[in-house]
Amino acid sequence: MTDRPLRVAVVGSGPAGFYATAALLASGDPAVEVDMIERLPTPWGLVRLGVAPDHPELKAASRIYEKTAAMRGFRFLGNVEAGRDITHDELARLYDAVVYTVGAQTDKRLGIPGEDLTGSWAATEFVAWYNGHPDYQDLPFDLGVERAVVIGNGNVAIDVARMLARTREELAPTDATDQAIEAIATSGLREIVMLGRRGPAQAAFTPPELKELGELGGADIVVDPADLELDPASEAALEADRARARRNVDILREFAAAEPAGKSKRLLLRFCVSPVAILGDGKVEAIEVVRNQLVSDGGSVRAVPTDEREVIPCGLVFRSVGYKGVEVPGVPFDAERATIRNDCGRALDADGQHVPGVYCAGWIKRGPSGVIGTNKKDATETVELLLEDARTGRLPRQAQASAEAVDALLAERGVEVVVYSGWELIDRLESERGAPHGRPRIKLSSWDELLRAARG
Ligand code: NAP
Repeated sequence: MTDRPLRVAVVGSGPAGFYATAALLASGDPAVEVDMIERLPTPWGLVRLGVAPDHPELKAASRIYEKTAAMRGFRFLGNVEAGRDITHDELARLYDAVVYTVGAQTDKRLGIPGEDLTGSWAATEFVAWYNGHPDYQDLPFDLGVERAVVIGNGNVAIDVARMLARTREELAPTDATDQAIEAIATSGLREIVMLGRRGPAQAAFTPPELKELGELGGADIVVDPADLELDPASEAALEADRARARRNVDILREFAAAEPAGKSKRLLLRFCVSPVAILGDGKVEAIEVVRNQLVSDGGSVRAVPTDEREVIPCGLVFRSVGYKGVEVPGVPFDAERATIRNDCGRALDADGQHVPGVYCAGWIKRGPSGVIGTNKKDATETVELLLEDARTGRLPRQAQASAEAVDALLAERGVEVVVYSGWELIDRLESERGAPHGRPRIKLSSWDELLRAARG
């Protein structure tokens, strides 16, 4: 039994899944085979469906994943949903180890009145929509309003604000869906307001993403110089974090000093304001915010509300305050952190004991932070522990583990598995559709189109 390769299921095909797979397949001791199980017919997770279409250089990470997919011992099992088509217990029985790399599949809630009014969206929904995620294409985004408010000061908030501000010419060469390009290009938007609950020195976005806003063809960036007068704690933060906080504040000062060029849209960056309610009769009509003051609290700076309130009329709200992990049935979950309960990637039961054979990597392990590359180190750490467990006898080989047993189970359930060559057909068709228009691809964005293309 032990002379066969270790069989590992990697659940989820985003960056963490591919980095974990690459590290597993590179192992010679023991040799490893990986089945990557993915709910969609397409791989790459947020690289395909989260990274903004106007950032093709970030999407190029997929070139590395293609090399991993070509490695010996790899199988892609797309259109297979763990928990629905195959349960955790079945995975645990049919593989020697299971590595969950399922990301953070939902959004954090604000917990304020009006959050669910029509026109109040999770940023993640908008991102999935403009990126062609097949589950999000019917969402009725009405961009025919004058002002949109984006809540949050992270890179996702910047992505959403920037995409809303883009012109048709800027979007035309991207792989955003035609539906999204048309809606954004013909939108009635005149102003996009981004709300940060803390100050410019505490913003989570990164300097290159902030600076890029200044290069938008169709929108002036507006910053109130008063928002850039820093309290002593924020001044100290600039000294401590020269790479991000200092650069961000410098860029914001350049924005504040610039004369508006009279572009058709304005993108207003505001700080020290928190939403307290989204207002409207059946649909979003305004957002009420409270002005915060910053309070130094040990090493960190907290936003504390004052009595000063303001109502900003708007027709759309995008809540961009972070992603949130979702529990995988049968796998230990830390509800507070919204991650799989784990120690450096080894899943832990309620008593803190390692659940043999169960591991995690990426956002479901550490929470939704970091850039694509962060997942490489994270996934490698998990895989090193998994291989160590295999070498030291802490990873019992499963008697029923085999590719045939998995295939038989899925066939018996009538699951139409999309293997890697099926994805390559989708990929080729999308690229061919895009090429005459100078676009990297025109995505297939319905389940039906994707499955038909995968069948060839
Ligand atoms: P994020 O970086 O964690 O930012 C979340 C933002 O929401 C923070 O500004 C946070 O403010 C704010 N926030 C949280 N709760 C709030 C509340 N109740 N009210 C108001 N504001 C609230 O998350 P993200 O933007 O979703 O990005 C996730 C990860 O993906 C990040 O690591 C990001 O860098 C990465 N990403 C990278 C790129 C890129 O490289 N181009 C693009 C997209 C995403 P506080 O700081 O005050 O908590």
